[in-house]
Amino acid sequence: MTFQDLGLCPPILRALAEQGYENPSPIQEKAIPPALAGRDVLGCAQTGTGKTCAFAAPILQRLDGKKASGRPIRALILTPTRELALQIQESFQAYGKHLPLRSAVIFGGVGQNPQVEQLKKGVDILVATPGRLGDLYNQKYVDLSRLEIFVLDEADRMLDMGFIHDVRRILGWLPKRKQTLFFSATMPPEVQGLVDELLADPVKVAVDPVSSPVEIIDQKLYYVDRGNKTKLLAHLIGTLGVKNALVFTRTKHGANKVAGDLVKAGLTAAAIHGNKSQTARQQALADFKAGRVQVLVATDIAARGLDIEELSHVFNYNLPDVPETYVHRIGRTGRAGRGGAAVSFCDVNEKEELKAIEKLLGRPVPVVAGHPWPMEVLEPAPRDKKGRVVNPEDAEARAAAKERRRQRDAANKAANQEKKAKAAQKAPEPQPPEPPAAEPAPKKKRGRGRRSSATLEEALTAVEPKKPERARPVYDDFQKPDPLASDVIMDATARLLSSRRPLPVREERPRNQRRKRQEKQEQRQAKPAPKPAPAPKADARRGGRDRGRSRRPMEPDLRKHGQKDSTEQPSLMKPYYLSDD
Ligand code: AMP
Repeated sequence: MTFQDLGLCPPILRALAEQGYENPSPIQEKAIPPALAGRDVLGCAQTGTGKTCAFAAPILQRLDGKKASGRPIRALILTPTRELALQIQESFQAYGKHLPLRSAVIFGGVGQNPQVEQLKKGVDILVATPGRLGDLYNQKYVDLSRLEIFVLDEADRMLDMGFIHDVRRILGWLPKRKQTLFFSATMPPEVQGLVDELLADPVKVAVDPVSSPVEIIDQKLYYVDRGNKTKLLAHLIGTLGVKNALVFTRTKHGANKVAGDLVKAGLTAAAIHGNKSQTARQQALADFKAGRVQVLVATDIAARGLDIEELSHVFNYNLPDVPETYVHRIGRTGRAGRGGAAVSFCDVNEKEELKAIEKLLGRPVPVVAGHPWPMEVLEPAPRDKKGRVVNPEDAEARAAAKERRRQRDAANKAANQEKKAKAAQKAPEPQPPEPPAAEPAPKKKRGRGRRSSATLEEALTAVEPKKPERARPVYDDFQKPDPLASDVIMDATARLLSSRRPLPVREERPRNQRRKRQEKQEQRQAKPAPKPAPAPKADARRGGRDRGRSRRPMEPDLRKHGQKDSTEQPSLMKPYYLSDD
């Protein structure tokens, strides 16, 4: 079968040929014709099967075939990660190269202004992650009222990442009449629920279901002690003919450590995880893709959706807790029909995970015996009070985080002490208090660095040590809390999306008001009315701006109530795997 047989138009055929695509992949063969015909499609396919082209090519053709007035957003592709969003938009640009359609991508972790500018210019196809779409929709930069085609990509990952509520909210913003293309590698009940709600008489296409192993991948298992894994990894990278490898670790701390140890062993390696900035991640990915870095060490979240052409090896440095994740991980290699190798390490504490993976695969993973670091520790790690294995990787990551906190606190304390000492040195001897002035002293500007004082107020001001500035903690490369890190962004997004509960407006009781009025009247009778004092500056300003406008009862001044803004609430949506190491 050829792409021409699928009914694609010449400009798209030309673009596909320029991409080097000769024949459609199975998902493309099955999904493109019904999608072109305007049917809803339910695609059960993983990343790596060519599913992006399976939805992008028909979308481009349908939008090109039917013009719209103005430039409304006519197709929305919702995808869980920034990396995936970028890759999807790149695919739209590549396949739509010879068509006059405009696409844009929006995702968190970067400033919104360039994205807003693009939206203002008008886009036909918008690729988005849920958080940033929600932000920009709420700010009215995104209008979805004329949407014609909606793609929900990697629905099961959305669920894993805690985005399902955001997705449901976004669905509520879409017009009822639209074509929906729905892709998910697995179909847990929540995803099935979405399918039932969203799709009308869909054409079901399934390729390479996640419960069957990717046959073309050469899978191997090495039993090895935790302490010898990096040595074995470096050894295998040197002996297995590894062109480029993606190594999966359990924690972000683990990713840093393994990458660092590989570099010490003379290899080129970089870590990629949620604590790294978007720029650092993109740089590491670019270096890896360009072959400047041979090994990319990643956590699952960071590696999700990465499209790396010709990845020769995947290493499971740690086995995943969730067996499906194993299949997703090894699916990074052997893309679009190309073979690859997946090497997994299993220590004594990971035997349960291995059992679950083999159950899912329906067969054991072939074991390699006779390597230089055979497993010697046969006693599993102790269990905690609840009977759970105390995972040494997690314990190590926690200990490292604790040590970083300790160093940070010590640095803060030292900085504070130093500031206090400096402030004490600078402060002059306290002046004896002067008798209170008969007239209220005119307010003087508090000049910077004033030393002498003439009034009691000034004397007190002068000796009062300057409020110490918050000491800047000393961070190493990996500790620095990154404002662009996905966990920080997801937290912020969750907090912004969380509804702000209306606060009770404190009303004065009528009895109090009556008493106050009476008191005022008595005062007026007792002495002549004093000249009204000039209003404080801030009040005057507010009076000017808010004149004739009362504060809306639904939006009371949060500070007056001593209550925090909703954005100061603790995290509402922090998936388990984004917790600090
Ligand atoms: P996807 O599953 O959409 O992430 O695609 C995985 C990889 O396969 C990407 O690098 C695509 O460029 C590539 N690809 C998609 N379709 C084809 C095709 N028909 N022939 C060759 N490569 C393809």
